[in-house]
Amino acid sequence: MIYNINRRKFIELFSYGCCGLVLPSCSTVPITNRRQLSIYPEGNINNSAAKAYENFKSKNKLIVKGKQIDTIKEIGNRIEFAVSNFFLKEDGEDPTSNFQWDYILVDNDKVKNAWCMPGGKIAVYTGILKITQNDNALAAVMGHEIAHAVAKHSVERASQALTVNLGTQVADIFLGGAINRTRNTIGRSSGMDIFQLGIFNPFGRKQETEADYLGLIFSSLAGYDIREASKLWERMSESNKGKEPPQFMSTHPSSKNRIINLNKWVTEVIVKYPPIKRA
Ligand SMILES: [Zn+2]
Repeated sequence: MIYNINRRKFIELFSYGCCGLVLPSCSTVPITNRRQLSIYPEGNINNSAAKAYENFKSKNKLIVKGKQIDTIKEIGNRIEFAVSNFFLKEDGEDPTSNFQWDYILVDNDKVKNAWCMPGGKIAVYTGILKITQNDNALAAVMGHEIAHAVAKHSVERASQALTVNLGTQVADIFLGGAINRTRNTIGRSSGMDIFQLGIFNPFGRKQETEADYLGLIFSSLAGYDIREASKLWERMSESNKGKEPPQFMSTHPSSKNRIINLNKWVTEVIVKYPPIKRA
């Protein structure tokens, strides 16, 4: 009986991925088709993220005018358009249809970072522009961040956290009764959880590799030169040797493998995912 499922069994059941035949608790990452655990409601995450984002905006110095923010918005709009149109054509369903895209440029040269909150809230710090140096590289950074959001990596992390934190209680969800109770349990601290669950904490290696791959595809669809992506990571690891390593590196572990992968994928992606032209 599922009532009596023990914690160890429960973790076993979920830590190796999903069992789609049995439980309606999984979704599939677009393009890579990786099955991911998805029991935490996406709407909750996006709402918490939107609040955290507004809060962030009110507490940080933003640059709202000028060439840099214009470029960020231009790149973002192009990626938005490309992603949305690609999925509508391929799957008939756009994973970003519930996103409310927004872009900010944070005036802080010391922070070499960028992030995308669930639901499409994107921040770029002036510090990382010194590493990106050109639009193609900035598109690589933004494409990677947007990929985390499109692949719903935060929903996945929150869902994994649910299984770990609540253990057997979560089993109740599948009996239909306890889902609201669970939402309340997590909801109490959701304001901060959103930061813990995938914005400032590193994603897992699988998610990083997936974001690299999808990010390349999105940048290519948006018409950027994706050969710049591996060069960007080389510059990133170069500045890692300096006094102030990029924060981007702490949330996005660099490795030779990452650059090797990008170089391995680049030709195939250029051929398979050509730019989607705007009408
Ligand atoms: Zn990442």
